[in-house]
Amino acid sequence: MTTATDHRRTVEEHRAAVRALLADCSPGTEEVPLVDAVGRVLAEDVTAAVPLPVFTNSAMDGYAARWAEVGAATSDRPVRLPVAEDVPAGRTDVPPLDPGTVHRIMTGAPVPDGADVVVPVEDTDGSTTTVTITASPAAGSYLRHSGEDIAQGATALTAGTVLGPAQLGVAASVGRARVLVRRRPRVLVLSTGSELVAPGEALRPGQIHESNSLVLAAAVDAAGGAARTLHFVPDDVDQFLTTVRAELADADLLITSGGVSMGAYEVVKDALGALGTVEFVKVAMQPGGPQGSGTVDGVPVVTLPGNPVSSFVSFEVFVRPALRAALGIPDPHRLRTTARLTRPLTSPPGRRQYLRGRFADGEVELVGGPGSHLLAHLARATCLVVVPEGVTELPAGSPVEVLLVEGALQ
Ligand code: AMP
Ligand code: MG
Repeated sequence: MTTATDHRRTVEEHRAAVRALLADCSPGTEEVPLVDAVGRVLAEDVTAAVPLPVFTNSAMDGYAARWAEVGAATSDRPVRLPVAEDVPAGRTDVPPLDPGTVHRIMTGAPVPDGADVVVPVEDTDGSTTTVTITASPAAGSYLRHSGEDIAQGATALTAGTVLGPAQLGVAASVGRARVLVRRRPRVLVLSTGSELVAPGEALRPGQIHESNSLVLAAAVDAAGGAARTLHFVPDDVDQFLTTVRAELADADLLITSGGVSMGAYEVVKDALGALGTVEFVKVAMQPGGPQGSGTVDGVPVVTLPGNPVSSFVSFEVFVRPALRAALGIPDPHRLRTTARLTRPLTSPPGRRQYLRGRFADGEVELVGGPGSHLLAHLARATCLVVVPEGVTELPAGSPVEVLLVEGALQ
């Protein structure tokens, strides 16, 4: 029987709600030295102050020459030419190439005016006085032309780019020592549960080690935010509200875990539901059905369920894309692809299921079962396997959508 209380939001509806909530949570920009910019989101277009390559240079150790003079060289009919100059990388006063001569040249050194080819040292006798050339490359070979990678004045990197190793390399190469980046949204993470004990402490019967705050804080940082973890609180409404309100002033977002389900002692639901500014909903997904979003004292809050896998998957599906969109990243979603199941699966009707899997060579192997407490299985996964709401079973070999959640800052 379907009743009003059975109504479930679709994943897309809740994703849109969280995205709208977080739209303004990015707190402006700051300039940082390049060495501190890894993982940050560029807030400006970086223009190339110099072309890349900066000047036409040699791609090989060899001899800068005129092709008309060396193009016919073979081992049977070698060409011999005097070596007029020695040009190591970094030489700043390279004279033009006189006809009938070559310059010995190293990789990365400026190609002299007049040269239109570099003969690799392997095709010569390596002499520093008069070189014997026994083979010749095609016309124009081994020249790296100025501006062929990027033209002077062109946009080298666009705003919204996440600065990974290659992008930092580009910024450095065009001469930037500092870049303007988005400030990291300050995200408070608060776990709830009277059963929780800090890792390292002895467990009494019924207690477990708290893990969600570590998972969520790491995920926030990897997504481009700056997490601050509050010491977890027991299922006590007053303690929860006191802890949250004491810390909210300098936060752009609050993420809670636990206390949003249908049982008793649902501390987050009880405390924030009474404020009237946070909406608690059921989303048609598994894991991660119970969700909430809204504001506390004007600060956005997203309330995630407590089961460790639910908490992680909810962050992935709702919070991560919203946070990254707020940071100005044009495509805030995970890379996705289609893979074939190595074994059959079943899925509950009316729920989008996010199973854990390992992806390789176009195939995906499911890791563990659907239970949302199976954190060790999650830790072995490299992807989430998406099973649509309308699908209840799939045979082995079926194509499924997978979200590649391993590693990468994208
Ligand atoms: P809850 O959503 O609060 O009902 O919690 C659901 C399940 O997740 C329970 O088994 C909790 O013990 C567990 N759990 C909740 N919060 C955490 C946490 N921070 N770390 C580890 N497990 C948790
Ligand atoms: Mg709880």
